[in-house]
Amino acid sequence: MKSANLAHSADRHGILWHIAVMLRQWFDSDYRPPGWQGDDKLTDGIDWRRCIPFIVLHLGCLSVLWVGFSWAALVAALLLYAVRMFAITAFYHRYFSHRSYRTSRWMQFLFAVLGNTSCQRGALWWASVHRHHHQHSDETPDVHSPRMRGFLWSHIGWLTSPKNFPTDYSRIRDLEKFPELVFLNRHDQLVPILYAALLWYAGAWMEKHVPGLGTNGPQMFVWGFFISTVILLHATFFINSLAHVFGSRRFKTDDDSRNNLFLALLTLGEGWHNNHHRYAGSARQGFFWWEIDISYYVLKLLSWTGLIWDLKVVPASVYREAQQLKLSAGRNPA
Ligand SMILES: [Zn+2]
Ligand SMILES: [Zn+2]
Repeated sequence: MKSANLAHSADRHGILWHIAVMLRQWFDSDYRPPGWQGDDKLTDGIDWRRCIPFIVLHLGCLSVLWVGFSWAALVAALLLYAVRMFAITAFYHRYFSHRSYRTSRWMQFLFAVLGNTSCQRGALWWASVHRHHHQHSDETPDVHSPRMRGFLWSHIGWLTSPKNFPTDYSRIRDLEKFPELVFLNRHDQLVPILYAALLWYAGAWMEKHVPGLGTNGPQMFVWGFFISTVILLHATFFINSLAHVFGSRRFKTDDDSRNNLFLALLTLGEGWHNNHHRYAGSARQGFFWWEIDISYYVLKLLSWTGLIWDLKVVPASVYREAQQLKLSAGRNPA
């Protein structure tokens, strides 16, 4: 989800230079041209060049008018939404950003690849931005705070800002020591392109070998890539926007984070955002059995297979705090 981000030097270079750098950065997000003034000089605002990928993705959904509908394509889109939402919540968020459990180097690589199919850039960029969010939640430096910059900015505007484009490696020293993760992060278009090509191929294969399904390459591509990905993007972005605006607040955190059942169902557990801001190090975000957290259930299953281990739990002190807040709310109803 990116394009060039060189607005700060727009006065010194021609449009061709900008296009060349933009294309180069599409294939290597860590590329900096000769004479680069430094990432700290990047501007903070909406850059139309970085809007292009979002516009293309949304317009791509309209091609459903040409490729049509089939149950196979719809089921594929829903399944791919669920798998990739799990990859974002359980891998990009709970593993790479918060290290709330442990796994092997091979699995870690697989997690980064699966998360990358969501078109939300590389795991290292994602984790670096997210750690920054927890450090400055709803304060001035927070890159996606509805309190500070409004709902639309927190939802999608911040992603188009040149300032938020680079990966801040100083925040992910624990991850940058793995060259395979750095490679994926730099070349973060590689996996989405492969994913899209695979969908097209799978659809073409089905058309030939299982014609009864009524699907084909272009249809599987439109439903599995454009439609599924756009819904996935907005559902993820809701955690930055809606989950800081609508819902209940169990804990009196310094930010505006909320617990929201609808968002928890939509994002497989991320909607318990107030819980999460109170204690981010836990592998579960639904702190109680009635707070549905599908990502946590799957992580628990994975831990029984031995593929992941050391799932971090919510400390007893946090549960006591929740209990005390509930009791005091009962004594002093609002
Ligand atoms: Zn938050
Ligand atoms: Zn978090």
